[in-house]
Amino acid sequence: MKPAEQKAIRLLQKYNMYQLPVNVYELAHIMNIPVHLRVLEEDVSGVLVVNNGKATIGINANQHPNRQRFTTAHELGHFILHRPISGVFVDRTFRRDYTSSNGTTLEEIQANAFAAALLMPEELLRNEIGSLDLYDAEAVTNISEWLGVSEQALVIRLTRLGFISDY
Ligand SMILES: [Zn+2]
Repeated sequence: MKPAEQKAIRLLQKYNMYQLPVNVYELAHIMNIPVHLRVLEEDVSGVLVVNNGKATIGINANQHPNRQRFTTAHELGHFILHRPISGVFVDRTFRRDYTSSNGTTLEEIQANAFAAALLMPEELLRNEIGSLDLYDAEAVTNISEWLGVSEQALVIRLTRLGFISDY
């Protein structure tokens, strides 16, 4: 497991939230990190603002709830992994923007790995889908809705974990 994923799991365990479905807003609340839905630039998914160690997350109010949930997890990832004392992370929808103005690609990859593991922990996913036919589109839809992630995010995650070899 990647270090970013391990930190996501440890965070869930620390706050006694290591169970599905993961409520990322409840987690942020327990961590004392306010999450605000805001009208942001169209291509901005979310922002993490850290001021003297105190974090605030802004999420684009116009994006899909699944995306908002993932973005919130992603911003928590920046906070946990990259430990900014003060600073602003701006996350845009298109990846090309990440490198130009918003830190390194590596940081974005790490934050995404953190977010995927936070919302879809490998062990819990394995337990939950043990009896699921992953080629059953309806089942994939039901699971993704239950988890609050997009079907695409779920399938990518399951594939990377080796639960689906060919979708
Ligand atoms: Zn980011």
